[in-house]
Amino acid sequence: MSHILPIGTQQNTTQPVPLIDLVAQYQTIRDDVQEAVQRVFENQAFVLGDEVSNFENQVAEYCDSTHAIGCASGSDALLLALMALEIGPGDEVITTPYSFFATASAIARTGATPVFVDIDPETYNLNTDQIELAMTRRTKAIMPVHLFGQCAEMDPIWRIATQYGLAIIEDAAQAIGASYRGRKAGVLGSIGCFSFFPTKNLGGAGDGGLVTTDDKDLAARLRRLRVHGDVGGYTHVDVGINSRLDALQAAVLAVKLRHLDAWSDARRENAQRYQELFAEFELRERVGLPEQVEERHHVYNQFTIRVSGGQRDEVLKRLRERQVGCSIYYPKPLHLQECFSNLHYVEGDFPEAERAADETIALPIFAELGAERQRIVVENIHQIFAELDAESFVPVRRAA
Ligand SMILES: *Cc1c(COP(=O)(O)O)cnc(C)c1O
Repeated sequence: MSHILPIGTQQNTTQPVPLIDLVAQYQTIRDDVQEAVQRVFENQAFVLGDEVSNFENQVAEYCDSTHAIGCASGSDALLLALMALEIGPGDEVITTPYSFFATASAIARTGATPVFVDIDPETYNLNTDQIELAMTRRTKAIMPVHLFGQCAEMDPIWRIATQYGLAIIEDAAQAIGASYRGRKAGVLGSIGCFSFFPTKNLGGAGDGGLVTTDDKDLAARLRRLRVHGDVGGYTHVDVGINSRLDALQAAVLAVKLRHLDAWSDARRENAQRYQELFAEFELRERVGLPEQVEERHHVYNQFTIRVSGGQRDEVLKRLRERQVGCSIYYPKPLHLQECFSNLHYVEGDFPEAERAADETIALPIFAELGAERQRIVVENIHQIFAELDAESFVPVRRAA
């Protein structure tokens, strides 16, 4: 879509650039969304039902998955996946410390123990060389996260899972539409978990989530678990949870699913343009850019740069002063979160995750961003580094 600026609006480095602009996206699909919402209200069927099963079928087809089961959030998708695999107290699940909190909290919620391994500094995904070192007799599953929209390195994970009989639960919350060697995120393990939180690449009008699987029995169990283990007639064969997808969410998401590939392509084009702009402004030495690995289709839920030398927080502060939208995903790795102190991890255990938490900045990458605003983002970063150089800025060591 085109951005027509009001007369008199100047393209200068002080024009604010938001980190994400869902209003701009809504304007492109408004009529279809309104119609879908209207339909749900006319029917007054708000929980599960046809809207949800139609959407589930569409996502299953989109991901090349046999089954898709909607639920209330991405966090619940992870929890349901673990419950369906009967993972609980005494079990261990290997995952990354550099992710959204729900990745590890879902494991802890079942009573199982999250076991972290460090990340690959280039992709921010699991360092698969460390998985076997972290395994014990209690290891039941591996939970890779396809962070920022790029799939984890699945080949070694498949080899290890097959060799030791482990399940694979994909946290694909940031990666709908991504693929690994031509296979979509969500069909790269035993169960795939998606989130439709509004800022995800496919975002609803509130919370929502979904699980995918090719296994008929797991699919049946997942369908039961989301409705308190009910097989009908108030007969409960499992102690499940209440985690259903709303019809309103499904109706809105079905509209947006039709645009998902075009939006992902626009994100990928923006990422390519950032690569060119950072080169043009001679910032490639100052800023680490995201690595796009061969045979992985990256959908850029986030475009994350790395600023080393202790300057990240100062660059972030100045970007905010200049009204350039930015954020840190994630400022504190999961192994150092207070609620996991019982796991007895200490600072230094996962140096790459800790370094990423100290060095990364997420920049605007949404589909409607446009080349001009991208230039403004990079120009501002260029000017900030020029300022820091002129001030001979010496970073203050961050307090732990
Ligand atoms: C968003 C997200 C989740 C949780 O999804 P919600 O829908 O917010 O519960 C889990 N894992 C990752 C990696 C996420 O980005």
